[in-house]
Amino acid sequence: MKLHTFILSLAWFRSNPPFHRSDRGTLSRIQMSMKLRRLIYLICFSLGFGFARSVTKTTHTLYLGKEKVWVDIYERAGSNITFVNLHDNENTSAEAGRRFVEKYGGRLIELRHGRGREVVVRLNGVLYRFDPNRMFSEAGLRASLRYFRANSDEVFHIAAAFRDSVINLVDAKAGMVIVALHNNTQDKMTIRDYRPGGWYGKDTKKVNINPRQDPDNFFVVSEADLFSALSSLGYNVALGAKDPPDRGMFLDYCVRHGVSFITVEAEHGKLIEQMEMLEALRSVLMENNTITIDKSGFPSPEMPIDSIHSH
Ligand SMILES: [Zn+2]
Repeated sequence: MKLHTFILSLAWFRSNPPFHRSDRGTLSRIQMSMKLRRLIYLICFSLGFGFARSVTKTTHTLYLGKEKVWVDIYERAGSNITFVNLHDNENTSAEAGRRFVEKYGGRLIELRHGRGREVVVRLNGVLYRFDPNRMFSEAGLRASLRYFRANSDEVFHIAAAFRDSVINLVDAKAGMVIVALHNNTQDKMTIRDYRPGGWYGKDTKKVNINPRQDPDNFFVVSEADLFSALSSLGYNVALGAKDPPDRGMFLDYCVRHGVSFITVEAEHGKLIEQMEMLEALRSVLMENNTITIDKSGFPSPEMPIDSIHSH
């Protein structure tokens, strides 16, 4: 176990003990088992690092006019899960993905350019901005360019070529599992935005909000069985509508192409919480036989799911 992971886990545990002495009489068994389960996920996540095998990193350079965007691909055999981090300033989520790949295998694709959340086209000395998570349809990309006052056909074509290169690198195909990693600012975007009437209400079929969970930390899933499994574990989860409006999000692209898609959102800086969410997601996906994890030569502890269910 890496020392700083252990210290972070310890700090998290101190602020989130499985139960408080004063709670002991009132805390329900379900709440207790949820907290214990989360603690077990954390311990599992921490334990694996000592045994992690090496991850290969490949960097591709893409151009937006004169502007460079580096696409880092971290890979290790062992799992067929792909993480994608489109927003460059959402570094906590990328770190959680890297640690997952280091421990269980899989792929992390991370965009890097140092310009913040959006990417930038540099053309004739002018910078034009757009959201890389709105570029996956013509309407979405045009709307994002308009939003940032970059309404020019030349910029659109450069941005569309960049989008196609990203699609080629991710190579999303039917049957794959893609996990989008994001971070948000406290209370700016929360699970509450997915309720009917909320910002993402029209895109959402169902929502599960656990008032005991931080509303900044949540999953968005495209499949009903994942929604049920994560809800029953007490997470904040939104189930995407089957036919959402065309926003040009990567989620929409993947759903159209038969790819299982899960978004994991956590507040900036909440690494332990996001790692723990990935650990929970892994156990749910493995129970549903959605992903495969090769455990050969890797003494990763299994989740004692049944013993927890029996509480
Ligand atoms: Zn994001």
